[in-house]
Amino acid sequence: MTEPADVVVAGAGLAGACAALVLSRTRRVVVLEPGRPAGGASGAAAGLANPFMGRAAKPAWRHDEALDALAELADETDDGLFRRTGVLRPAASGTQATTFRERAGAHTDLDWLDADASAERWPLVSAPHGALVVRRGGSVDLAAFVEAALAVATARGARLVRARLTGWETDPLIAITDLGPIPTRALVLTLGDGARGLSALTDLPLHRVKGQTVRLARPAVLPAGHHAVAGAGYVVPRAGDVVAGATFDHSFVDLAPDPVLDAGLASRAAALVPSLAGARVLGRAAGVRLTVPSVVSSRRLPLAGPLPGHPGVWVLTGLGAKGLVTAPLLARLLPDALDGVRPLPAETALAPTV
Ligand SMILES: Cc1cc2nc3c(=O)[nH]c(=O)nc-3n(C[C@H](O)[C@H](O)[C@H](O)COP(=O)(O)OP(=O)(O)OC[C@H]3O[C@@H](n4cnc5c(N)ncnc54)[C@H](O)[C@@H]3O)c2cc1C
Repeated sequence: MTEPADVVVAGAGLAGACAALVLSRTRRVVVLEPGRPAGGASGAAAGLANPFMGRAAKPAWRHDEALDALAELADETDDGLFRRTGVLRPAASGTQATTFRERAGAHTDLDWLDADASAERWPLVSAPHGALVVRRGGSVDLAAFVEAALAVATARGARLVRARLTGWETDPLIAITDLGPIPTRALVLTLGDGARGLSALTDLPLHRVKGQTVRLARPAVLPAGHHAVAGAGYVVPRAGDVVAGATFDHSFVDLAPDPVLDAGLASRAAALVPSLAGARVLGRAAGVRLTVPSVVSSRRLPLAGPLPGHPGVWVLTGLGAKGLVTAPLLARLLPDALDGVRPLPAETALAPTV
């Protein structure tokens, strides 16, 4: 435990796995995780990599670069992990169809298909108002990605330690864990909802939203390589199952997944892909998304940067519902930021009052 590290990454969810993967290219990394990797929000996610989210399908922040970063990191682990199927977004109404059509006219990554063309190209998808095709998106099995990224990092010499970060000392920087101290040059906090357990982080402007997904048996008619579909809910076909999501619960006490929510999730999935009607429920998972309130970040961008008042301590959190289009991008920028070569983007900086 006392062997010094260049970087300690605390938390092995999506953010920590991306950070560990990138930093282990050039540094001695220690990853702290008290539970199983991807045991937090990352294990509950459907894994949609959709750079044009929301009702208006607005482009995500730095979406081109974000998809490049996702592809780069996924390929570094296993080139099959980022399933570049694209994402199909059926319009829910004529009004949304107009918005989507305009969006497609403005972005080369998007195509618009009217109802007939959509039915011909995607017969399994219900799109009576037409559909937007997000060509560069797709899906990633987040838990598999986290595991694969950690495996590559450990093959490069990173150490995965089953320990909980309980605090730190600065000058010199020491990560304090329940198994003992680790001297380090930098400490990167990718704790997800675990940030609540550390007093220095309780004032971070983060809103907690519980979410749940359900795994359904994949009907034989629906190929595993089918486009992911996103509308009022979403459907991510995989080799062994279909993940349907997701709920957004802004006030909750219990973190456990609730079987009562299965039926609603399954019926929203069947509204998008009718062959899913009556599909057997295989399991469910829940996690807490952390979002940055719009009064702090009008685009609800993540928080990534040095923790003010704590030299050597960095935070990467607040990935909200779009971890796949934010974490790889920010992780890719970390090495230069840690070296003082180029700061992380100002838009994601932690408020100076924190
Ligand atoms: C239901 C649901 C569906 C989602 N669907 C999608 C989707 O389709 N596409 C998408 O891009 N995003 C999706 N998301 C969002 C995505 O899951 C998150 O943005 C992302 O997984 C957050 O990753 P993280 O590493 O910040 O947090 P987490 O995955 O929560 O990881 C934090 C880790 O830190 C560990 N930890 C906590 N405290 C400590 C400590 N003191 N010391 C050491 N380790 C600690 C935890 O055990 C955990 O493993 C979804 C989220 C949910 C809940």
